[in-house]
Amino acid sequence: MKTRYIGAHVSASGGVSNAVANALEIGANAFALFTRNQRQWYPKPLEEEEIEKFRSAVKEAGIEPKHILPHASYLINLGNPDHENLKKSRDAFLDEMQRCEQLGLTLLNFHPGSHLNKMSEEDCLAQIAEELNIALQKTKGVTAVLENTAGQGTNLGYRFEHLKAIIDQVEDKSRVGICIDTAHTLAAGYDIRTEEGYRETMYQVDKIIGLEYLKGIHLNDSLKELASRVDRHASVGEGVMGMTLFEVLMQDERLADIPIILETPNPDRWAEEIALLRTFAK
Ligand SMILES: [Zn+2]
Ligand SMILES: [Zn+2]
Repeated sequence: MKTRYIGAHVSASGGVSNAVANALEIGANAFALFTRNQRQWYPKPLEEEEIEKFRSAVKEAGIEPKHILPHASYLINLGNPDHENLKKSRDAFLDEMQRCEQLGLTLLNFHPGSHLNKMSEEDCLAQIAEELNIALQKTKGVTAVLENTAGQGTNLGYRFEHLKAIIDQVEDKSRVGICIDTAHTLAAGYDIRTEEGYRETMYQVDKIIGLEYLKGIHLNDSLKELASRVDRHASVGEGVMGMTLFEVLMQDERLADIPIILETPNPDRWAEEIALLRTFAK
């Protein structure tokens, strides 16, 4: 069996260091977490003791930082057309990046942003890139990872061209990347349910953006059909995806050294889902 770095977005409740134990418990060798309460604009800073506990737990688990994909708060909208609200998102995003620095983490996954029908797509993408330039200038060693979206509401990032447009306007291209969420990809209208469809979609990612930017996968089944533009994850095998995607993706050598993260809705199934995925990586 080939090595793959597979995990889930585990709970960090009670302290970020708990996420490491939660990951190991389900047989993960990669994981995602929130490093702050994702429902609050102004959560408490990380305590020094907790930072040390996290760092040593990661080291002891033998998990490399590049296989840990923290997810930024859903409150953040770097595309917000309103200046006051944008400022809040800018501060929160910088705080997220700084937490990653403190924890020795090298990636921060986030949703690009929403134009809220008050701005053109093009202007919104340019603003997101400008916000990234600000955050990257103030931090070191952390790559901002743009997640593709389902395109629900006014969310941008559902076309690969959106991610490309942002990356094009980011000054330090060594610190920007992308994450492909399989449920979002299907909902956005890319048919990844067959081997041919998966290969064609990955070809598009490579042609439009470049696979060198790919820093992670969110591996989810989808409750909603192709091109629904609705974001509803399902456990592996319980949605409309079918099993082919999971088999083909686990055999894709280009994904052999990046975190593959489940964001499926039933944590009780994660251990079983990870074990199943590992059997596909033959
Ligand atoms: Zn996400
Ligand atoms: Zn996702």
